[in-house]
Amino acid sequence: LRIAELMDEHAAELAELIISELGSPAAMTRQYMVGFPANTLRFYANLLLEGRVAFEEQRCNSRIFKEPRGVVSLITPWNYPIHQITAKLGPALAAGCTTIVKPANEAILSCFRFAELVAEAGLPPGVFNFIAGDGPAIGGAMTTHPEVDMVSFTGSTQVGREIMAKAAASVKNVSLELGGKAACLILDDADLSVVSAGVHHAYVNAGQTCAAWTRMLVPKTKLREVEALARQAVESTIELGDPRVAPSPGKTRLGPLVSQRQHERVRALIQQGIDEGARLITGGPEKPDGFACGYYVQPTVFSDVKPEMVIAQQEIFGPVLTISGYDDEEDAIRIANGTIYGLGGAVWSRDVERAIRVARRIDSGTLDINGGPFNTLAPFGGVKQSGIGRELGVYGLEEYLTTKSLQLPIDGQMAHYLKPEA
Ligand code: NAD
Repeated sequence: LRIAELMDEHAAELAELIISELGSPAAMTRQYMVGFPANTLRFYANLLLEGRVAFEEQRCNSRIFKEPRGVVSLITPWNYPIHQITAKLGPALAAGCTTIVKPANEAILSCFRFAELVAEAGLPPGVFNFIAGDGPAIGGAMTTHPEVDMVSFTGSTQVGREIMAKAAASVKNVSLELGGKAACLILDDADLSVVSAGVHHAYVNAGQTCAAWTRMLVPKTKLREVEALARQAVESTIELGDPRVAPSPGKTRLGPLVSQRQHERVRALIQQGIDEGARLITGGPEKPDGFACGYYVQPTVFSDVKPEMVIAQQEIFGPVLTISGYDDEEDAIRIANGTIYGLGGAVWSRDVERAIRVARRIDSGTLDINGGPFNTLAPFGGVKQSGIGRELGVYGLEEYLTTKSLQLPIDGQMAHYLKPEA
C-alpha cells in the first residue's frame, strides 16, 4: 500500500519518464501505465488485509497450506514498463515470495524510479531486488541460478521458449506471458459500426500491446464495406503526433514506436505485406509526411490478407491491422485459431449468446465480447505459444503459491481408505 501511495505522489514524474522513453500518449500513460499499476498493488494488499485468501484448509485428515514458492525472478518487457513489474510484484509479495526484478532496457528509467520508490517504502531487506542490463546475460543468470525457485517472464515468445528450456535444467516453475496475434472476429450479423473500435484496439500504444486485435476477420461478402470503414476510421480519427500534446477534438493520439530497431522492423514487415500481395488500404512503410524525426510509423491497414501470410502470422508490434475475409462461421473460427498464438481476441455479434458460443471455440486465454471492457479481476494470459499461467486477480496470486499437505493422525488409522465416500 505504501508503494502505491508513493506512486500516486510521484505519478506525474513516473508518467513523464515513461513518455520520454516509450513515446506513449500522455493521457493513456497516466491512466494505464501509472494509475493502473498502483491499483494492482492495492488490490493484492487488500486481498490480504481483508483475509480473502485461504492460506490454510482442512480436507479430511490433511491440513493443506499454501506457501510462497520462494525466490522469484521477474523479467519484464518495455511496452507497459511499470505495469509489467507490478502485475508480478504485487502477487509475488502478497504470496510471501522474495523477488528479483529485471526490466527491459528500452524503458528503464521509469523502472529505476519505481525501484527507488519501492526502496523508500521500506520493505524488509532482500524482499525486492532490482537489476538492469543485458537480457541474455542477466536474465539468463536469473533463469538458471540454483537458488531461484520460479521465473515469471513477460516478453517475446522466442525468449520465452529459451527461458522455459533453461529453467527445465533445475525444474523451476515458469510463468510465461508471451506474444499474441489476436483476432477481432466480426460475425455476419454484427453491426459494422464496430469496425472503428477494432481499428482503435489494434493501435493501442502504437500497436505495441500483446493482446491488440491485429487481425480483423469479416464475412467475405462484407470485405469491401469493412475496408472503407477501416480507412475512414484511420483517416478521420487517428492522429499521429507528439505524445505530450493532446490530440485534436474527436481524435486519438498515435505516438512513435519505442526504438529504432522496432521502427525498422515494423516498416520492413509492412513492406513484406506488400511484397506478399496483401492490398494496402491506408498507410505504408514510408515515414509519414512531416515526421522526418522520431520513430513514427503510418497507421496501416491491409486487406485481402491470406491467413498464411507472414503479416497474418507474425506479431508485428506496430500500428498495423490486417483484414481477412471468411466464408462462414467454421471458416472464421479456423482462421482465428490458425496461428501459434492464443492471447487475446474479440467476437462481435448482435446475439451475445452466439458470440459467447463462438468465443468458447477460439483458442485464447481472454476474449472480449461485443467490446466488453478490460476487467482487472479477470485472469489474463495465453494458451498455445502465448504462454503459461495467468496474471491479475486472485489467479495471478496462485502462480506464486505452492501447496503442501500434512496428513494428521486419525483414530482407526487406515480406516478411511476403506470408505470411498471419505
Ligand atoms: P523480449 O522478449 O525481447 O524481452 C523481454 C525481457 O526479457 C527483457 O527484460 C529482456 O532484457 C529479457 N531477455 C532478453 N533475452 C533474454 C534471455 N535470453 N533470457 C532471459 N531474459 C532475456 O521482449 P520485449 O521486446 O521487451 O517485449 C515485446 C514482447 O513482449 C512482444 O512479443 C510482446 O507480445 C510481449 N508481451 C507479452 C505480454 C503478455 O502479457 N503476454 C505483455 C507485454 C508484452
